[in-house]
Amino acid sequence: MSLSIEEIFTSFKVPVSSSQKKLIRDAYEIAEGAHAGQMRKSGEAYIQHPLAVAKILAEIGMDTVTVVSGLLHDVPEDTTFTLEDVRKHFGNEVASLVDGVTKLGHLKLRGSKQEIFLENLRKMFLAMAADIRVVIIRLADRLHNMRTLEFHTIDKQERIARETLEIYAPIANRLGIGEIKGEMEDLCFKYLDTKNYEQVKHLMETHYTDREKLLETIVTELKSVFKESGIHIIDIHGRIKHLYRIFLKLKKHDMDITRIHDLVAVRVIVPEIADCYETLGIVHKKYRPMIGRIKDYISLPKPNGYKSLHTTIFGPDGHIIEVQIRTKKMHEEAEFGIAAHWIYTEKEKKSWKNLIFRNSKEVVVKQELAWVNQLREWQNEIGSDNEEFLSGLKIDFFKNHIFAFTPKGDIIDLPEEATPIDFAYSIHTEIGNRTIGAKADGKIVPLNHHIQNGQVIEILTTKERKKPSRSWITFVKTSYAKSRIKKELKKEPFQ
Ligand code: MN
Repeated sequence: MSLSIEEIFTSFKVPVSSSQKKLIRDAYEIAEGAHAGQMRKSGEAYIQHPLAVAKILAEIGMDTVTVVSGLLHDVPEDTTFTLEDVRKHFGNEVASLVDGVTKLGHLKLRGSKQEIFLENLRKMFLAMAADIRVVIIRLADRLHNMRTLEFHTIDKQERIARETLEIYAPIANRLGIGEIKGEMEDLCFKYLDTKNYEQVKHLMETHYTDREKLLETIVTELKSVFKESGIHIIDIHGRIKHLYRIFLKLKKHDMDITRIHDLVAVRVIVPEIADCYETLGIVHKKYRPMIGRIKDYISLPKPNGYKSLHTTIFGPDGHIIEVQIRTKKMHEEAEFGIAAHWIYTEKEKKSWKNLIFRNSKEVVVKQELAWVNQLREWQNEIGSDNEEFLSGLKIDFFKNHIFAFTPKGDIIDLPEEATPIDFAYSIHTEIGNRTIGAKADGKIVPLNHHIQNGQVIEILTTKERKKPSRSWITFVKTSYAKSRIKKELKKEPFQ
């Protein structure tokens, strides 16, 4: 089943003009020529790999420039066609994306020494800050490598799968690309924990012998009741939970599959919020709801901003099915919103959290939420214009937003122009209160120093100091630091 360039065109989620098609075709022809004679471990022609990467990118809704870069992503490294040649043919934007992907590819994200690992992770984040599309291409690259992992040695399978599970899948998750995250996790699961993978797969097959058919039945039945009641439905489709996610839930429920109620879900997309509630009523009239399983995430959105109505019902033949009802806007935010599922899954993923946000306390979570909200606001401003949304992903995504590092390599998220005092308070109030000085990349800086993206910040503290200085309020950037300082200053001086 070799891929052709035509399949890339049909995979696009965004409209592609004829001049854009020509550009993609050019990139394909150059990549094919450059990789001619090279083979993948699978025995396929090498060009199949960049084609598969381009297809993934088109499928998740990326723009032409990203897809072109995906086609060319291995060219400078593995062929005689240089980065300069890429620049000459396709311009600076494509060249800088390809260059970024190549550089990221050199990072070994696991193994070696802890310091090297942290340094690499740091580069990954900086690449994200520079142009998020570099990371998205890298994710597509990794996903295809995972799909073709069977052709490698067991050792290599292990190493790549672990790195994917610990680094790439969480990044995909953080960027809200659920499709990539889900598939990556399932593939990792298969290679890293084959026994449990097979068991869960078997459980699903026996418990839901005719899942597809069940979904088909309920979708047909619902469509007809919706039609009768005259409610307008934009879309209705089934969703099957990924195996790895099922496994994590099963572990919490003594591997008892009958206790998991969202193995199979149906999503109903309607125009307006009012329609959501009306639809819920109709669903409940048709199928008996399970008590205590109705969740109104519209009135009370999840911490990551997720909105929907969820209900669990006894569907055809008494099968338990979750029904999710949402507007088109909510759906797009959940599927496409870069920051979707941010905090929620972050909390579950202890390993990732420990890795990056070892200092993660409520403080940091609050900050993350602020960032999510900021993103959402920005997304709303742009509206649903895909082209604009995607080109905006470029640098604006991280505009007014920087990453700084603790000496241990923990990443602290800050707004632009944040100071060491903001940094200190975002780690811990006590640290903020006791700050007497700061170093940026090893050099002493004033406390009102504007932290630069990627700087390692060391906070110097003393036990003698117990209160913040009033003057700090005049230069701190985060409202969090400001409110902590005010609060601390109000406390009784002698306790
Ligand atoms: Mn590659």
